[in-house]
Amino acid sequence: QEESAKLYVEQVFEKVKQRNPNEQEFHQAVKEVLESLIPVLTKNPTYMEQAVVERIVEPERMIVFRVPWVDDQGKAHVNRGFRVQFNSAIGPYKGGLRFHPSVNGSIIKFLGFEQIFKNSLTGQPIGGGKGGADFDPKGKSDNEIMRFCQSFMKELSKHIGPHTDVPAGDIGVGAKEIGYMFGEYKKIRGTFEAGVLTGKAIGYGGSLGRTEATGYGTVYFVDEMLKANGLSFADANVVVSGSGNVSIYAMEKAIEFGAKVVACSDSSGYIYDENGIDLQTIKQLKEVDNKRIHEYVAIHPNATFVEDHTKIWSVACDIALPCATQNELDKTAAEQLVANQVKAVGEGANMPSTLEAIDVFHENNVLFAPAKAANAGGVAVSSLEMAQNSARLSWTFEEVDAKLQAIMKDIYHNSVKASEEYGVPGNLVVGSNIAGFVKVADAMIAQGVI
Ligand code: GLU
Repeated sequence: QEESAKLYVEQVFEKVKQRNPNEQEFHQAVKEVLESLIPVLTKNPTYMEQAVVERIVEPERMIVFRVPWVDDQGKAHVNRGFRVQFNSAIGPYKGGLRFHPSVNGSIIKFLGFEQIFKNSLTGQPIGGGKGGADFDPKGKSDNEIMRFCQSFMKELSKHIGPHTDVPAGDIGVGAKEIGYMFGEYKKIRGTFEAGVLTGKAIGYGGSLGRTEATGYGTVYFVDEMLKANGLSFADANVVVSGSGNVSIYAMEKAIEFGAKVVACSDSSGYIYDENGIDLQTIKQLKEVDNKRIHEYVAIHPNATFVEDHTKIWSVACDIALPCATQNELDKTAAEQLVANQVKAVGEGANMPSTLEAIDVFHENNVLFAPAKAANAGGVAVSSLEMAQNSARLSWTFEEVDAKLQAIMKDIYHNSVKASEEYGVPGNLVVGSNIAGFVKVADAMIAQGVI
């Protein structure tokens, strides 16, 4: 049985590579999941007979579109927009929009694919989707960003809706961009459909706690994993890459739990502050002033700036939280962390560790919290935002935060349980992939071959 499961998985992977040539990130994400599924396919061959795995790796739909816009000087530009509607077995497509120059079909597909399992793990009724554009918001004026968002939504509005597909933010898309896109959607439809986008500002249907959710959720998850292993954040040295929304709120919660965060970064480099990073300064620089991270050193002269963000993993720490972007932590970085006796790694970004880096962590018994599980807090609270919008009410911060904590704990325990059930105790990569997969796969079988 195991042999036929292995063969099946190999065949599916070959087909994925053939159908999606040169899409390195998508291949990487698929490879990790497929390899995790071998024990579940061995136990339950129906998933193979019903071609569930072959179906799950093929998006239900991929929309690619032109996004023309005019800059402040009157010059016209064109970007490429995407929305992948990957899987709707357990709910409407759900997932963020990323605006970053690196965005392409491979990145959108890897993110959409991950989202299927992540969303399933939250226990909420949401399918998997993702979108974005190769637009660079850096250095653009507010008016340029508004015109871009309006043009993007002009096309996207044809494909989304509160019961169809519900986008949100991701890198380069925050409450401001969601606001511009919501305005355009409302104008096109002529109805106030609050639940069509999540991550809205509080005044018109946003949820308290959504801004903090991904970062807080990552720390709640890692905290649960540490506790189960007799460890904690208290007095731990922590390194958090990035300084965007995920990173800032991961740092905030880690500090609240008694940790000392000694380094964080942006694409220009990283800062190290042995006294512990002053989060208020980071918030002012990144959330208000739109400045680069090296400005921190001017305000806190005891801190140092290193002009290579990839070197952040050479900073010794007990807990590493990669919260920047995909493949930011490779084999060499993992080996450095291990040499410096890292105890736990929690992924706040999507697929920040390469497959080789994950192997290094597992081989050295480093506690490893994979992205699909550890960063699911953001989309989980997005789903709570949809629930509040449907019910036409809003919950307090405390209510949302309590639900988020409960969800992250459940994800941890369900992943551990699956890892034990399928013979790889403590391997949360396999555990979370299986736990996420089974719910979607069973729904797909129940709904027939569609
Ligand atoms: N972009 C986030 C993620 O990667 C959140 C998506 C959402 O809230 O829909 O999960």
